[in-house]
Amino acid sequence: MAIRFPTNPYEDVLPSEFNKSNKKHASEFFIAENFKQYGWFVYEPFTDTGIDRIIQKKVCPDGHTEYNDDTRQKKQCSKCSKDLMKITRFVQIKTRELKDHDGWKKDKYKYFGFTLSSADFKTDPRYVFLLYSDNTTKEDQDVLIIPISDFFDFFTKHKSLGQSFFSTTSFRQGNGKINDLNYNLSTKSWVYHPTTKSEINLDDFVNESGLKKISDLRLDNEKQTVQEKLTEQKLALYFDPVKWNKNVKMVQPILDGRLKKDYPEKLKIQREKQLKSFKEELPKELKTSIAQGYLIKFKELRDFAN
Ligand SMILES: [Zn+2]
Repeated sequence: MAIRFPTNPYEDVLPSEFNKSNKKHASEFFIAENFKQYGWFVYEPFTDTGIDRIIQKKVCPDGHTEYNDDTRQKKQCSKCSKDLMKITRFVQIKTRELKDHDGWKKDKYKYFGFTLSSADFKTDPRYVFLLYSDNTTKEDQDVLIIPISDFFDFFTKHKSLGQSFFSTTSFRQGNGKINDLNYNLSTKSWVYHPTTKSEINLDDFVNESGLKKISDLRLDNEKQTVQEKLTEQKLALYFDPVKWNKNVKMVQPILDGRLKKDYPEKLKIQREKQLKSFKEELPKELKTSIAQGYLIKFKELRDFAN
């Protein structure tokens, strides 16, 4: 099979021509059609749990199936005749247009801005991020396919980048855009964190190479081992001790205070004081709005506006 992965399945329209309202849908179908051509069964989850597609493929348990073999009609391995086994990957798809930089990177790089929040990181090794650029060049689209274990490996290896990726408050709130993922316009390659001196090449995850990554049977046959390593790396990246110790110092006295005997009484007084000041100081419209709004579920606020 010589077709490029991915290839535009829509004969009459370029993927970049879809607009804001139908882009997500069109991109997910684009990805799905491409997986099918490489022998994967593709399913769409009923509800939104952060997974956009579940994909499955029948492969030889001894690794004879190539990443580009279409085994959908087969039951046994064509080399060793063993029964094929089914592997599963859970795919989260992020589609972005490449955007221009300001400053020195302009004309050298374009960036793929994306967000991931702490909830996106499961410790199941079969979990995969797929970053899809619908306008990599005028004609071609690229995907980066990154198994979650490789994601953690990358940021464990490049420690300071991992610290800035995982330790910021924006990551915890899920609203921090990451602009470190770039397309190098002269080498036509994907890189991370370009500076005037260096860039980290991501070829291993691009297109066919990414497809090979997720076809790796280690994710299935050594699931337990991979998962344990994943969990360790996740904890280390999430709770970077340098930043964490500072936070603990601030939070500890507050937590200690809660364990004291007089805490419930103090809390009651504090709440009453707060309520009194709200009643006396807030403008009328705001009070009405609060009374009718989300605070209504707190019993002590029900007669708030009276
Ligand atoms: Zn075989």
